[in-house]
Amino acid sequence: MCGIIGYVGKRQASPILLEGLRRLEYRGYDSAGVAVIGADTLVTRKRKGKIEEGLGTLLGQSPVAGHCGIGHTRWATHGPPSDENSHPHLDRASRVAVVHNGVIENYDRIKERLVAAGHHFHSATDTEVLAHLIGEHLARLTSVPEGTHPLAAAVANALREVIGTYGIAVVAVDYPGTIVGARRGSPLLIGVGEGENYLASDAAAVVAHTRQVVYLNDYDVVTLTADDFAVTNLGTETAKVQITRLEFDAEAAERGPYPHFMLKEIFEQPQTVRNALRGRVDLEEATAKFGGLNMTTAELRAVDRVVIAACGTSWHAALVGEYLLEEFAHLPCEVEYASEFRYRNAPLDKHTLLLVITQSGETADTLAGLREAKRRGHKALAICNVVGSTIAREADGGIYLHAGPEIGVASTKAFTSQVTALTLLALLMGRIRMLSHPRGNQLLRALEAIPDQIQRILDQNERIRQIALKYAAAEDFFFIGRQYNFPVALEGALKLKEISYIHAEGYPAAEMKHGPIAMIDERTPTVVLAPNDALYDKTQSNLQEIKARKGPIIVIATEGNTRIAEAADDILYVPATLDPLYPLLNVIPLQLLAYHIAVARGCDVDKPRNLAKSVTVE
Ligand code: GLU
Repeated sequence: MCGIIGYVGKRQASPILLEGLRRLEYRGYDSAGVAVIGADTLVTRKRKGKIEEGLGTLLGQSPVAGHCGIGHTRWATHGPPSDENSHPHLDRASRVAVVHNGVIENYDRIKERLVAAGHHFHSATDTEVLAHLIGEHLARLTSVPEGTHPLAAAVANALREVIGTYGIAVVAVDYPGTIVGARRGSPLLIGVGEGENYLASDAAAVVAHTRQVVYLNDYDVVTLTADDFAVTNLGTETAKVQITRLEFDAEAAERGPYPHFMLKEIFEQPQTVRNALRGRVDLEEATAKFGGLNMTTAELRAVDRVVIAACGTSWHAALVGEYLLEEFAHLPCEVEYASEFRYRNAPLDKHTLLLVITQSGETADTLAGLREAKRRGHKALAICNVVGSTIAREADGGIYLHAGPEIGVASTKAFTSQVTALTLLALLMGRIRMLSHPRGNQLLRALEAIPDQIQRILDQNERIRQIALKYAAAEDFFFIGRQYNFPVALEGALKLKEISYIHAEGYPAAEMKHGPIAMIDERTPTVVLAPNDALYDKTQSNLQEIKARKGPIIVIATEGNTRIAEAADDILYVPATLDPLYPLLNVIPLQLLAYHIAVARGCDVDKPRNLAKSVTVE
């Protein structure tokens, strides 16, 4: 949530900041702003609304000149989206500007004190309090540790008073040509250029300018000038500065010919599933192999329970993982919402493996869960997409998805890649336990067929669009499935809610009669996931129960099943696969259904209201 960018160098800052913000817009799009240091001036421009219409127009009308500046795109936590609440925020004297990603949890207490001292605040944000606090510390700075920049010293002193999370960038009119950044909990990196330097929430914002980055760690404070940067650490540790070269395909973050990133990413899935499989299929041994688990076979063998912590779509992938690990490895497995896991006193014994799943690798709740497990001395693995992200760096080992940047706020390709990675992991865990060679082999062969099978479903896009148009006016939707398809039902409902704002719920098919079926009427469609799996007949009965109550039915069925057409109002076919692999196929028509319904309802698919892509606040 919230994207931060900073630039200092010889070029004009404002166009670079604006372009960087466009790349970060998926992180938040309530409002955007910049602060630029010119000749003895600190000028801010900020406006409510998406970048193009808001800040972009404003800067077109009243440009700002200067070679050093900071920018922000917001996802509001404190105070509604408005011009006043937009970042940057200024200190009392309007000489310091701050942009912030995170939450200052004790802002009200600090604010009370500052108000009593005569400060006036113009916004409802926690960030403005931090700006005033930094201004206060700068004004009363008497001595500065050797080699420390005064602005960095003031920022450090202010942050020592703060409880909460932050990634910040700070500029001050008295120190033109310097940006100070700091992080705790929210991501921040330095883009190292030649005669210019950058600060950003993520690599996408700087990759067009440089491939050299330094990922900052918690409590790091960085002082950035055009030619240099220095990092200190507020904690007890000395800062570890390591320049990493980005292996990043800038084109992969472009929308290309697709009208939305979400559609592009849905269509990328044959390739992204292939990427998740590449180099990991061992047909000879009928198992999976991973380069980065950092655990020996004996260590993996000693695991007797798995706890998976995740949020949102990753949590749904985790549920599929639970079924897979139980079936293939007979391992007890529990799936936790990361936000709950951290605060429950969940017993983990020394043979419990913690696995976290996150697309961005920055999800605040998941990161907190990972740290909690590590604090207790446990090994923790991560399944993650973004290389170099905080969770990727802090986990003991893990599996990268290699799905390329996912920009659409509604996650699609990350889900199928996560499920692919989990299937391989369950296979590996099974093969070092009791799973037979033929069973492992059968699974791998079926997995290798998945990318082409996904393509066959994508080829039905136009048909799915027609069905979507038919149901686009519905106000409630149900999604039901059994066993492996129950998490897919949850995911289908989530996709629809996120981007079309239709109320939708996912249920285990048999659970409908315990309550939710009361909601069924002729205006409430149900999507029934009814592949030819072991539970087909049971699911069929649940379908009939809804039909008998006049609920319209859209069925996702296995190719060749013509019998089910009698009961269905609409039917979409997927190719046949093994029961555990149906999630990888069944989710595709649900993604497309949600997409086309949202488009038909005129919704902004890539920037749904109230959401942001990577959730970096708790
Ligand atoms: N708390 C800040 C605000 O509401 C930043 C929010 C964020 O990082 O998402 O403006």
